[in-house]
This record gives sequence, structure tokens and C-alpha cells, in this order.
Amino acid sequence: MSLQFQIEATRGKARTGLLLTPHGEIETPIFMPVGTLASVKGVSQDILEDLGAQIILGNTYHLYLRPGVDTVRRMGGLHRFMSWPRAILTDSGGFQVFSLNELRKVNEEGVTFRSHLDGSSHFFSPESSMEAQIGIGADIIMAFDECTEFPADRARMKSSMEMTARWAARSKKYFEEHKHEVPWHTQREIPTLASPKSGESRMGHPLFPNATQSLFGIVQGGMDRDLRKESAERTIEIGFPGYAIGGLSVGEPRDLTREIIESTLEHLPTDKPRYVMGVGTPEEIVEYANLGVDMMDCVLPTRAARHGLLFTSEGKVSIKQARYTQDAGPLDPKCGCRVCQRYSRAYLRHLYASNEVLAQVLNTIHNLSFYLDTMRRVRHSIRLGEEFGF
Ligand SMILES: [Zn+2]
Repeated sequence: MSLQFQIEATRGKARTGLLLTPHGEIETPIFMPVGTLASVKGVSQDILEDLGAQIILGNTYHLYLRPGVDTVRRMGGLHRFMSWPRAILTDSGGFQVFSLNELRKVNEEGVTFRSHLDGSSHFFSPESSMEAQIGIGADIIMAFDECTEFPADRARMKSSMEMTARWAARSKKYFEEHKHEVPWHTQREIPTLASPKSGESRMGHPLFPNATQSLFGIVQGGMDRDLRKESAERTIEIGFPGYAIGGLSVGEPRDLTREIIESTLEHLPTDKPRYVMGVGTPEEIVEYANLGVDMMDCVLPTRAARHGLLFTSEGKVSIKQARYTQDAGPLDPKCGCRVCQRYSRAYLRHLYASNEVLAQVLNTIHNLSFYLDTMRRVRHSIRLGEEFGF
């Protein structure tokens, strides 16, 4: 047993469900905060627990370079290493390598790339990405894919999609042969430092014995609806417990992102979780959840927070603006987060203007809280059969 997905309520195309992973239950639709380097920048794990984050993301490319897969594996896997008892998902490294542009070379076997840190040369293939993701030990891992650049002509989109399908089959083959090597079951000799607050004292240990990870397939096909359909069919034929739509948010107009998501969803099985990678604004995650997307992740709330851009019920706030210098009100009067309950806009503006580390911490806590709360309200509205929108 590695994953169970159960749909609880539907409203039109939207649905709420429960995704049971080896490290806990996730209510869908869910927003997953990004913890690139085994850390959601600026926010400690106990606060993430308090905010109600049920699953976070790790980036294989970054963890592979620092601290290295072997270190994470020897520390008992990523849950144990970063002291995060709940679910984790890792990407395959494909998208990050894709973003390196001049630093990479792609062929049928895999991708040769240079580290953005020291220029050293590395190679990722479907097999080595699986090996790294098994060593890191997230609950959900992703097939190694090629993210097609935008814009691209049809021939390029087609050949890229076809290679992603072949890589998906290789990813699954390696995963099936090695999935029992996940470090969760060999860590009992590693001492436990402390129990996390929420009573989740089983740190790093899966909820059920012999649980393994789950590998999701990724649909590519660029901005072509027919190629997306073909990619979905080929990925489904290989067979995965969940399906992602990749290759979006690569510079295309937002209307096109939505169109591709909507048309691709029609070709994905309704009884499996559907994950759209790397989206979006608060408005977009609501819109996509309403289309029937179950999982989403994005660096936007955390990255924007570090630049003083805050999402609120009254729209975007740029906290650096002088108009907040003596504003005694809360950042968002409708937000119940610990930042809005305690600090004024004037104080947050002061921290940001003075380049205090605390500015990044508090801004990130609020933005994540706003995203997580938005999805909580979306789930509630689906259960009630009501429309939710901004
Ligand atoms: Zn707040």
C-alpha cells in the first residue's frame, strides 16, 4: 500500500478528496509549498505544521547538488533529515535542468548539465532521477520528463512529447525494480532528536509497514491540444497512480495555460489525482481547482514574500510603499494568520525597508497562510456545492 485516493464531493468539474500517503493524509485540492533545499525559505517546520501544510515539495536537482542524495539517504530520508513528519513530493529534476538553458545537452539517454553552483558536469537520466528520488525518499516522486520550451514548433513539441513518453516507461521500470530501497525502513538506528508538536512522533516512519513511494507520470505536448491528448493516452497506457500536467508556466499567455489545463484534464482518469506543476496566482489556483485539478505547487507565494509582495483579500500589497509607513492596521483584516493577528503594516514596512531577516519570515508566513487558507475555502465551497471565486 503506497497511495489511496478517494473523491468525497464534486461540484461541476471540481472535486474534493482525500489522498492517503505513507506520511499522512492530504485533503485535495491542495496547494503544496515549495521547499527547494529541504527548507521552505524563511519558515521553520513547526510553523508549517501550524499553518496546516499537509504536503511540501522538494527539488531533486537542488538536493542532489546540496547536500547530496547519499547524505539525505544516510540521514534516513528527507522526512527525517529535515524533521518533517508529513507528506513530501519531489520533482524529477527535469524542469530545473531545463531551466539551465546553455548549461545542458539533451539526448535520448538523458541530460548532461553543468551545476549552477560550481560548473561541474552531471548527468540525469530517467534511471538516475529515480535513483536520486528513491534515495531522497519523498512520498510522491515524478517521472523524468523533458519540459518543452515555449514557443516551439509542432515537430519539436511532438518529438519532445514522444521522448517524455519513452522516459516515462524507463522511469517506471527502474522505479518498480528499486522501490523497496527507500530509506524509511532502514532508519531505526538513527536517533530521534525530538517529537514534532502535533503528536506526529513517528518522525520519518511511514504509517503502514512496507509502504513504498508512488511514482506519478507527467503529460507534456507543449501548447498543442492534440499532442497533449496523445501524451495523456500514452502516459495512461504505461500506468501511474497519479498524473501531472507539466510544461506550463514557461512564458505562455495565461489564457493558453488555462486552455491546455482544461483540455488535458478531459483525457485524464477521474479516479486518480491530477497535479498541475508550477502554478499559479491565488486567482489561478482557485480557477484550476474549479476545473478539477487536485494538486498544485508554486514558488510564487514564497518568492513574492521575499520581495515584499503580499497577497491579501483586498488584492496585492507592496509593503515597501511609503503609504504604509504609519499604517497601524493589519496587513489583511480578513486574514487569521499569526502575522496579521499581531503586527501592523507600519511594522512590516519598517522591517522590509530596513532589510531585516524577520521581514522575509513574516511575509512568507502570511503569503503561505493566504494560499493554504484559500484552498481550505475552495474545498469547503465544493463540499457545500457553492461557487468560490475572488
Ligand atoms: Zn495574514
